[in-house]
Formats: sequence, C-alpha cells, structure tokens
Amino acid sequence: MTHRFQSVTHEDVAAFRAILGEANVIFADPDRLAPYGTDESGHGHAASPEVVVKPQTAQGVGLVLAHCNRQRIPVTARGAGSGLAGGAIPLFGGVVVSFEKMSSILEIDTENLVAVVEPGVVTNDLCRRVAEHGLFYAGYPMSVESSFIGGNIACNAGGAKVIKYGATAAHVLGLEVVLASGEILQLGGKRRKDSSGYSLLRLMVGSEGTLGLITQATLRLIPQPGPTADLLVPFASTEDAVAAVPRAIMASTSMPSAVEFMDKLSMDHAMAYTGNHIALADEAEAFLIIQIEASSKDMLLDAYRPAGEACMEAGALDVFVADNPWASEKIWSIRRNCLEALRGIDPTVEGGDFVVPSTKIPAMMAFVRELSVAYR
Ligand SMILES: Cc1cc2nc3c(=O)[nH]c(=O)nc-3n(C[C@H](O)[C@H](O)[C@H](O)COP(=O)(O)OP(=O)(O)OC[C@H]3O[C@@H](n4cnc5c(N)ncnc54)[C@H](O)[C@@H]3O)c2cc1C
Repeated sequence: MTHRFQSVTHEDVAAFRAILGEANVIFADPDRLAPYGTDESGHGHAASPEVVVKPQTAQGVGLVLAHCNRQRIPVTARGAGSGLAGGAIPLFGGVVVSFEKMSSILEIDTENLVAVVEPGVVTNDLCRRVAEHGLFYAGYPMSVESSFIGGNIACNAGGAKVIKYGATAAHVLGLEVVLASGEILQLGGKRRKDSSGYSLLRLMVGSEGTLGLITQATLRLIPQPGPTADLLVPFASTEDAVAAVPRAIMASTSMPSAVEFMDKLSMDHAMAYTGNHIALADEAEAFLIIQIEASSKDMLLDAYRPAGEACMEAGALDVFVADNPWASEKIWSIRRNCLEALRGIDPTVEGGDFVVPSTKIPAMMAFVRELSVAYR
C-alpha cells in the first residue's frame, strides 16, 4: 500500500523518549510491540506499530502529537484493544498512543453528580467506585470488564442498558481532547445543559481518535437504581420473541433497563462455554433477557410481574426470574460470553453489530439462517 506517511526514525524515538521518559516508549522490540497491533475484530486483522508510547499527561500527548504531525508520522489511539471494528489497529504503522497509564479516577463529585476520569479507566472499575457513593454510571458495553472509558467514548459504545439510558454519548458532559497540532481543547464540563452553538463535544464522541485524542472525561452520574430482576424468557419462535418486546415494555411501570435478544445457536454455544444451563433451552428457538428495576425489594415483584405476564400472553414458553445477584450473573455471563463462545468454535467469527428496527429481526434472522446453511 502506498501512502504519504513517513516512517519513524531514531531521531523521532529520541524525541518521544525525551518527552515521555525511556520507560514509556517501546521501539524495536517486536514481542512487546505485537500486542498493540491487534484488537478483538478477529479474522487475524493485525498491523505492527513502529513505536508505542504511553503518555501520563495531556501535555505529553500534545507534544507527541505535535511532533508526529510535523514529521507526518501516523498515529493510532489505543484503549484496551477490545474494539470489534479494528479502530485501534495501526494500519499505517507509525505510533500507537496507548492510554493504559492514564487510568485514574480523578474525582467523584457527589454534589454535581459527575465523575472526572482519565481515558484509561476500566469501565467496570468506575461503575464499582461510584456505586460506593450510591451512584451509577449507566454506560455498560458487554466488554465492561476490560474496555476503557476513553475507548467507550471514542466508539460511542452501546450495550445492554442503551434501551433505558442511551449509548455512551448520553453520559459524556465534558471532554479534554488533544488535537493533531498538540493543542488541548476543553469541551463541555460539569453542567447538565450546554446547548449554545455547535456541539464539538458530541462530534468527538464516536470519532474513534480521528479528530483528536481524549485525555479526560467528565461523566454524568445518576442515583444507583434500586434492586433489579432479570427475566429470561424462552420462545418457540423468533417472531414470538420479537412481538413480545413492545408488549413487555408497555406493560412495565417503567422502562426496562435492558432488553436483549438471543437466538438458539448463540444460546447453545454460550451455555456450553460458560457451563451455565437453562431450562427449556432445547425447545426454544429464541430468548429474551429483560431487566426490570424497582425502587425497593418490596416493590420488585410488582415491577417485573406485568412484563412477565405480557411475555406469557405473547406466547413465551415460560418466564424464569432471577431476582438475586447470583442468578442474574448466571444469565448475564451467558449473554456476555456469546462472542467468545462462538470464537471457541471458529476463531474467524466476525464480532460486529448490525442494526435493524426490531420488527425486522425475524426477517434478518431468517436471512442469517439461509446464509449459515449456504456457507456451512
Ligand atoms: C466481548 C465484547 C463485548 C462488546 N460489547 C459491546 C457492546 O455491548 N456495545 C458496544 O457498543 N460495543 C461493544 N464491544 C465493542 C466496544 O466498542 C469496545 O469493547 C469498547 O468500547 C472499546 O473500548 P477499548 O478501550 O477497548 O477501545 P479500543 O478497542 O482500544 O479502541 C477503540 C477505538 O477508540 C479509539 N480510542 C481509544 N482510546 C481513545 C482515546 N483516549 N482517544 C481517542 N480515541 C481513542 C481507538 O483508536 C479505536 O478507534 C464489545 C467488545 C467485546 C470484545
């Protein structure tokens, strides 16, 4: 492939070491560079970076970017490398800026209900820390245990709780971003309303490191929701499962915090992979996982019963209720491990999302089945 970028020279490496310190620059060490050349997009997608840098401050990021910009060296940002679209793979070589050393939760502001974090904070670590203050961070991609907040923002990650709380963009109130020139921008901040002018903040969310590198984020927190129940609902057909979704939502007293669909193939493999088995798995063709929140334990039954009844009226084979953390985790570990389970059978499985209106899911699943028969 021809391109207009320059390769990294020994002078460039010396400049990076002068900016960041010897220990924060990896060069000419294939074994240590290799892990920064892939992500979870699968199919053996990989490209080795020439250098990996691990800045610890926005100023360090700025000096590295300004140098690369002057020398026309390509730069790829990297969070935890859990992305499914290859965004963290340094296709043109050059420099990978890894945010693994910018991993501090700088502030949990219980008055303004925000958290200020560096981009390398693992999503679940933030969730746990704010929970200690009775607060909740509603971003919840299925990679929550490994992905970084910076990566979530750069991908505008969705996840199980999108239906109620929205994708990551809904939780980002402010960003510190370093541009290719090295300039450091402050966008938004600790305020809930910010509607004047163009939203550069919103433009940055989901831009996958192409417009600037995120070095700090101010995130919206909300009070910790009350106890939850998870309904695992098997159906004899995809059509029945899909038709049950609006009925279960409308029957619920508040919006379910998660509604997930799983087909039989994914369920079978994820059950085998996790060792968690559920009843009626043989008879069912499709499954819904519906999570309902209640204001207190006493209210939980009243909160989830209408959704369960609506599912039964819509043709569910049964409704299994998980109303304690152990039982809930059993269900969610099946859902979270779908991709790994399928890759256990075939490592080339592509792990991407495709999105259709929910009414189109039966037609989409029929098409997927046709493809899987044709290419078996
Ligand atoms: C098992 C599994 C489940 C998943 N579930 C979901 C899901 O439910 N919903 C969903 O939306 N996604 C999901 N994903 C993909 C998801 O988008 C990523 O897991 C996550 O958001 C990426 O974070 P990361 O830190 O790993 O970023 P990386 O993969 O390292 O990077 C992702 C992109 O962000 C850029 N980037 C990273 N950090 C920065 C930064 N500080 N500044 C600028 N750009 C940056 C990178 O250049 C790249 O383009 C899943 C992935 C896996 C493996």
